[in-house]
Amino acid sequence: MREIIRLEPVFKQMVWGGSGLRDYFGYEIPGEDTGEAWVVSAHPQGDCRVAEGSFEGKTLSQLWKEERALFGGAEGEEFPLLVKFIDAKEDLSIQVHPDDAYARVHENGARGKYECWYILDCAKGADIIVGHKARTKEELEQMIREERWEDLLHVRPIHPGDFFQIPPGTVHAIRKGTLLIEIQQNSAVTYRLYDYGRMPGGKPRELHLTQAMDVIRCPHEESQDGRKTFHEEGYDRTFLIACPFFTAEKYDIRTALSLDQEDPFLLLCVLDGEGTIDGGKIKKGDSMLLPAGYGRAEIKGALSLVTAHI
Ligand code: ZN
Repeated sequence: MREIIRLEPVFKQMVWGGSGLRDYFGYEIPGEDTGEAWVVSAHPQGDCRVAEGSFEGKTLSQLWKEERALFGGAEGEEFPLLVKFIDAKEDLSIQVHPDDAYARVHENGARGKYECWYILDCAKGADIIVGHKARTKEELEQMIREERWEDLLHVRPIHPGDFFQIPPGTVHAIRKGTLLIEIQQNSAVTYRLYDYGRMPGGKPRELHLTQAMDVIRCPHEESQDGRKTFHEEGYDRTFLIACPFFTAEKYDIRTALSLDQEDPFLLLCVLDGEGTIDGGKIKKGDSMLLPAGYGRAEIKGALSLVTAHI
């Protein structure tokens, strides 16, 4: 099908959210505590609607159910991916996600979560948590019990353009002053380890220590950075990740890019700049889906975008 399916973001207000999604993307956000824009999502907690065209007003989950041919007949009960822009004005809780096998058994058949982050912008001196330093589960349990977070957690300085892979079982936290794009499996199963003793609305948010202990990989294994950039005429193409659940690439277009859509479906999110795709205007913050059989898309302008597919 030769129609681009443009999606409207769903915004989430969070205790740690801010106004960065408006400042950076120009979005009309619902409040000064907006933490997330779910830009490609068919999740029941935030199902994106189609902005225009033949499917205007339908949700992505409806399309997945009723128009499976758009997705090249890809299988599964639920749409497999979820893409978010995240603005953290404050620290997010220290957390971990299960894999598919654990979530299936312990979370009513839900998916696990493999996620990855590409840093779009951050405050000077900002950092992020990926991994821990305990050598054994016993040591991990003891350090958590004694709340020795500084000894335990692997804190890394960040800069725009950094990229992190967070396989299931990886302890992680986005921290204040960070704006990023997150590509992940379509899942909201999160086990919270520590929330800095915060009391939003007068009471602490729930922790899930038992489940977290079950799923944290010990010792932490560092993911190999497989990024590779290819310089082409008119654009640079950076291969970001190929995990068992999705593949993602980034394009920095100087003048033009011919993009062949030969996957079951292709997600496309504009990170910066503006231009056109097959004559239609696109700009920073836009997200869309190129359905099965779309073929070649001609993208023109000076812009950066991320693509993802299963
Ligand atoms: Zn996470």
